[in-house]
Amino acid sequence: MALTVVEHPLAADLLTVLRNRNTEPPEFRQTAERLGYLLVAEAMSDMVTDPIQIDTPLETMTGTKLHRPVVAVAVLRAGLGLLESVLTLVPDAAIGFAGVQRNEETAEPMEYYTKFPSLELARVLILEPMLATGGSLSWAVDKVKENGAIDITAVCVVVAPEGANRMEEDHPDVRIVAATLDRGLDPNYYITPGLGDMGDRLFGTL
Ligand code: URA
Repeated sequence: MALTVVEHPLAADLLTVLRNRNTEPPEFRQTAERLGYLLVAEAMSDMVTDPIQIDTPLETMTGTKLHRPVVAVAVLRAGLGLLESVLTLVPDAAIGFAGVQRNEETAEPMEYYTKFPSLELARVLILEPMLATGGSLSWAVDKVKENGAIDITAVCVVVAPEGANRMEEDHPDVRIVAATLDRGLDPNYYITPGLGDMGDRLFGTL
């Protein structure tokens, strides 16, 4: 399975803060951003670099430069919680948005908005913090592929086995980076133990 769980003590600490029901939105947002740095760094760890010649103050040397540009596609709303992490690490990343709402009865995705920059040459990071059934992420990957993306990594916080399996079936070429693989889904398709509704926790909605 193309799933990488980031094993890092700091990631585990930050995830614990996110899971805690007493964490209020300001701390939740800041913690999601901090965890996002670790996840995004891992999601870029296999990127190809090109050599470039530079002058240090002391001598000429060969450094590196990312071969591909980076595009982040935030799956609305919860993906916005990881957007600052990408933009801080890669300020020239272009940003796309994938607006999808899950049908509360079937948990299947319903599109309401999409807007993408050029995707053909880029490492596309799809920001989908809660990979539950996998319906929204699979839909978002379909969309970016239709728009030319070929190098796609999903950045998640919590993954359920159901979502990971669905992605393996629908898009085995897409790598998934996450902070944890949780136990499963409850009858309302929430991940258990999970952290609740990521969008609500980020933005203080109920
Ligand atoms: N989306 C969320 O925000 N949380 C879940 O547990 C599942 C989907």
